[in-house]
Amino acid sequence: MLDIKNLHVKLEEEDKVILRGVNLSIGPGEVHAIMGPNGSGKSTLSYVLAGREGYTVTEGSATLEGEELLEMEPEARAAAGLFLAFQYPVEIPGVGNMTFLRTAVNAQKKSRGEPELSAAEFLKLVREKAKALKIDADMLKRPVNVGFSGGEKKRNEILQMAMLEPKMCILDETDSGLDVDAMKLVADGVNALRDAGRSFLVITHYQRLLDHIKPDVVHIMAAGQIIRTGGPELALEVEANGYADILSEVN
Ligand code: ADP
Ligand code: MG
Ligand code: MG
Repeated sequence: MLDIKNLHVKLEEEDKVILRGVNLSIGPGEVHAIMGPNGSGKSTLSYVLAGREGYTVTEGSATLEGEELLEMEPEARAAAGLFLAFQYPVEIPGVGNMTFLRTAVNAQKKSRGEPELSAAEFLKLVREKAKALKIDADMLKRPVNVGFSGGEKKRNEILQMAMLEPKMCILDETDSGLDVDAMKLVADGVNALRDAGRSFLVITHYQRLLDHIKPDVVHIMAAGQIIRTGGPELALEVEANGYADILSEVN
């Protein structure tokens, strides 16, 4: 599904190298987690995959089902089936959540050559998916994320994901700032979307989220590289011992 090979990235404005040869391969239906100390480049990796400005790829590739993502515009990446839930979801004043979702879903349909949803079809679908995520109708009417609590913003991102039905979902610290109940709701939303044809990359600083979203593979990232790969037990090792042991093995 997603193949990242020898990815090197630096900041566009300064000569600061952030990613130093990231290799990562995620198969269809797999859930991978990336953990790692603050500042190791986890968010940068997700930004670069999404096509955010400000970064320069100096080497390497990232393909989604064999198509080079790094050469596509951000919209084309989304149309190809990439979805990113960010650590800090953006607020969009003046744009109703419902309007935003309908525009996004229909743009996606159009780019895939599928018929757009009618107002009635969309309404039925969004209500059904919102209910499953315990999102109330009021939240659908408000401007996107404006005045939403941290938990509401995260649930709203999972709703966007559920509506867009992407192939490759990347969640960057979707658990940060959430209480246990909100985190479970987010995890349940993700688990409901797990499917043989859909893959997930879950970036998290803490092991806790991985009790609820069980990963197939866990990677540890440090100083812009993946330094260890293992099964779920690797996350438990980090939880128990911190990153120091793993870092010292590499240095
Ligand atoms: P993580 O998500 O693992 O905490 P980040 O990807 O946010 O790490 O950051 C990796 C490193 O790159 C950090 O040292 C961070 O300060 C730096 N960095 C990332 N983006 C920028 C930017 N736009 N300007 C300056 N430094 C940045
Ligand atoms: Mg960070
Ligand atoms: Mg981060």
